[in-house]
Amino acid sequence: MKSFSFFSRFSNPFQLPLFRSNLVFPASSCARPFHNSEIMSSVTNASVKVLVVGGAYGGLSAALNLLDLSRGKATRMAPRLGDPTDRKKVDIKFRIVDERDGYFHLIGSPLAFASAPEAERFWVKYTDIAALRDDAITVIQGSVSKIDPATKTATILDSKTKKQYEESYDFLIAASGLRRVKQVVPQALTKEEYLEEAKKQIEAVGVGEGVQNRKGVVVIGGGAVGIEMASEIALVHPTQRVTLIHSRERLLSAEPLPAEVAEYAVAALRRLGVEVVLGHRVNSSVQYADGKYLLKLSDGTKRTAGAVIWALSKQQASSSYLPKDTLDEDGLVQIDSTLHFKNDLPNSKYHYAVGDIAKWSGIKRCGAAMHMGFLAANNIYQDILASIGFIKAPKYVTFPEVPPMIALACGKEAISYSQEEGAAVGEDIMKMFFEGDLGFRICWDYLQLGKENVVAEDAETPEEVKTLEKKIDVVAISA
Ligand SMILES: Cc1cc2nc3c(=O)[nH]c(=O)nc-3n(C[C@H](O)[C@H](O)[C@H](O)COP(=O)(O)OP(=O)(O)OC[C@H]3O[C@@H](n4cnc5c(N)ncnc54)[C@H](O)[C@@H]3O)c2cc1C
Repeated sequence: MKSFSFFSRFSNPFQLPLFRSNLVFPASSCARPFHNSEIMSSVTNASVKVLVVGGAYGGLSAALNLLDLSRGKATRMAPRLGDPTDRKKVDIKFRIVDERDGYFHLIGSPLAFASAPEAERFWVKYTDIAALRDDAITVIQGSVSKIDPATKTATILDSKTKKQYEESYDFLIAASGLRRVKQVVPQALTKEEYLEEAKKQIEAVGVGEGVQNRKGVVVIGGGAVGIEMASEIALVHPTQRVTLIHSRERLLSAEPLPAEVAEYAVAALRRLGVEVVLGHRVNSSVQYADGKYLLKLSDGTKRTAGAVIWALSKQQASSSYLPKDTLDEDGLVQIDSTLHFKNDLPNSKYHYAVGDIAKWSGIKRCGAAMHMGFLAANNIYQDILASIGFIKAPKYVTFPEVPPMIALACGKEAISYSQEEGAAVGEDIMKMFFEGDLGFRICWDYLQLGKENVVAEDAETPEEVKTLEKKIDVVAISA
């Protein structure tokens, strides 16, 4: 095992590199000039309307960082760079639409589905998020079913009123992620239903008080999610018998990661007491009685279990509301490095996509989603400043190509991999990337969701900007 010192230099492991070179980008190659008042043309009260589809890591990062900029302040996630005199207060009204009634810490799903206290903690209703208590922000529980880019109009189905209506916008930020299967992520849309869903799964896999099931849990699928699901069950319910079955000869077989990472994962799972079965496909799983399952494997063997978790990486982009020609064959939004929609769409310069829904290099990660949200906020702010003639042309920041990297929780340990540092495993890695709550506190504080009226560290002079830039270089790495 490699010792691991590199990451300890960094205070926020979920952040992608924010090096100066990709933050302050010359306007020349990617500037899309605006005519004065072009953005405002569709609104009567002169405020800019920003519609955010999806209120999770990517969407909240975009909205909250842009809120900071609109107040003439530095952003909460990184001080705004460049010339500090390029600042102006602008009036922006945000509509954040999400099918759920709250922010769900998705990367904590494996723990939420194993432990009731974490299940409760990881879903925070939007009404309980201090950062969203702002006159400029309206959160709507509903589903965006259609976007017409030509007229910049969204069709929204409001979950509470059940009414469908149209809403115009000046900028759209698509941050609606991927749809994932049940047992891996909650399917519920309200906190109350979600807690019921989590309770059922915890009872099925647990051995807690009043829970009879000690007949073993089989997790099917040895990708990142399956590894984390098996680990969390084993960690929270140490007397439970947990088996992870994967059809290929090595774990993480679908990820562009070196074999060493998979080997570290197998070893960490075994240290947790998880039985790892490789190279066997589960052909069928039949529930023949309450809490009793019969599994048939590809080698003809049979196994029984008290609970079965399918942790296959079935996922679909949540992009059906967008025009087909903006999407690739997997439904991901095609973007350029400034995060604008790429295709020759009418008004593409007003349409951004961030997070999992965007087609980009690298393994899908919440760190990347938050970082993209931050970059989109900066670019929209530039768009607005240019449109009102405050600057000549927008100076966009760009999102670099992302090499494969991962941080994977495995009980008390975590495994990390990046091209520069290679693979590492240990409890120190767990602490750094996830702390004790699968990264809930890290993400929450990074987005500063618990605070109203955030005032970020700011710079007034070019010298102060340089000092802050240096600090940012030190806050660089990813999960
Ligand atoms: C079990 C699991 C473990 C993971 N572990 C890690 C990890 O350790 N580290 C890491 O970096 N990443 C991890 N990931 C990946 C990470 O969760 C994603 O990369 C991240 O959630 C992407 O954020 P996002 O904001 O783009 O999308 P999401 O978090 O998927 O949020 C999308 C939001 O959009 C809403 N929405 C969808 N469609 C619509 C619509 N039509 N109208 C309105 N709202 C809509 C959804 O309700 C949701 O709130 C994990 C993922 C899973 C499933």
